[in-house]
Amino acid sequence: MFDKILIANRGEIALRVLRACRELGIRTVAVHSEADNEAKYVKLADESVCIGPAASSQSYLNIPRIIAAAEVTDAEAIHPGYGFLSENADFAERVESSGFAFIGPRPETIALMGDKVSAKEAMKAAGVPVVPGSDGALPDDPKEIVKMARQVGYPVIIKAAGGGGGRGMRVVHTEAALISAVTTTRTEAGAAFGNPTVYMEKYLENPRHIEIQMLADQYGHAIYLGERDCSMQRRHQKVLEEAPATGIDRKLIAKVGDSCVEACKRINYRGAGTFEFLYENGQFFFIEMNTRVQVEHPVTELITGVDIVQEQIRIAAGEKLRYTQKDIVLRGHALECRINAEDPFKFTPSPGKILSWHTPGGPGIRVDSHVYAGYTVPSYYDSMIGKLIAYGDTRDQAIRRMRVALSEMVVDGIKTNIPLHQELLIDTHFVQGGTSIHYLEKKLAGQG
Ligand code: ADP
Repeated sequence: MFDKILIANRGEIALRVLRACRELGIRTVAVHSEADNEAKYVKLADESVCIGPAASSQSYLNIPRIIAAAEVTDAEAIHPGYGFLSENADFAERVESSGFAFIGPRPETIALMGDKVSAKEAMKAAGVPVVPGSDGALPDDPKEIVKMARQVGYPVIIKAAGGGGGRGMRVVHTEAALISAVTTTRTEAGAAFGNPTVYMEKYLENPRHIEIQMLADQYGHAIYLGERDCSMQRRHQKVLEEAPATGIDRKLIAKVGDSCVEACKRINYRGAGTFEFLYENGQFFFIEMNTRVQVEHPVTELITGVDIVQEQIRIAAGEKLRYTQKDIVLRGHALECRINAEDPFKFTPSPGKILSWHTPGGPGIRVDSHVYAGYTVPSYYDSMIGKLIAYGDTRDQAIRRMRVALSEMVVDGIKTNIPLHQELLIDTHFVQGGTSIHYLEKKLAGQG
């Protein structure tokens, strides 16, 4: 096992990784920007290194500084968390060529799955069902694009091969709008992701977002830890997640899970990863793979009893998977509310000083957050300040516990989206379960 790990991230996930390390008896190095000097996990870490100014481009995305921090502190491995450099193949490559273990997949796997066109091709080859669309990147010839869209059938969605974080996508309803949409998406993708390649998919009108959590070791063993339903989204970004997904045939999930295991073996996957699917009319369609730990991993941890972050570390240290598929038994139900520093209904960011902070507790409640009373939420980064997670024997019990937890939670000094979550937790359609990815936006627009 490693003796010391450098955590190349910030916020709640930095604290989550730190906790996993401490439990495993591994020493930790926190790297942080000048804006995060006072963060809780920075104080809790065995060592800390300031890697630059507040702007992420100069700190959390600064590869040479992070590697230098690992060198001066004698860390053996680097955990990238999520976001920032976690899916940057070049970073993983430089971590490994500098002699450190990268707690994640091999750099070539990150590159393969980071390009959504090559990812889809690899998945198709492994027998994973994918969304129908252009086979590969769109050609330059507008006539051919028009022909393809007719074959796929409107509406279609134009997506950037290098896209992420819900950006780089455009829905097209008519042929008249097609070519200009392709051109705009290409230009935007080139500027935002450094890759103008775009592809086309059938735009599914009423799907749910269902994803499958994977673990794979370096010796060809892979398992899936059930699924999560992340359909509650705004602007393609997840707001509330749960596990398991209600109302989907368990045999079908097992079949898709098995195909994901097969895919992991074929691409020589290593570590934790997630296959994301759209689910509509009883069918699963692969959209992309995330080659890192996800924000919503705790709901899976609660229903499986597996500590995903610790398993990531064990796998990176060269241990064999400690579980077989038979060991993975789903028990109960879990929900996660992402708590953001933002206006609950206008969604404008609300950074600033937290004057009072009281977190809920009681049976089945877990709070993953790095903030505390007196903490100032910086304006430079993502607005998420924590995650409230509720577990119950049944979905109904998890919902009741979450309602109580939300009502106990106090955050003063800044605005948060807690009131939005409170509304969702009593929404009849949500309580019934199985709402689509468009439900929240429709509800916010007053049509829910
Ligand atoms: P990102 O990497 O930016 O998260 P994804 O490919 O995972 O991009 O898509 C994010 C979200 O966009 C999905 O959860 C879904 O809400 C929507 N989306 C993507 N592809 C389609 C599609 N073919 N039809 C309908 N919605 C889609």
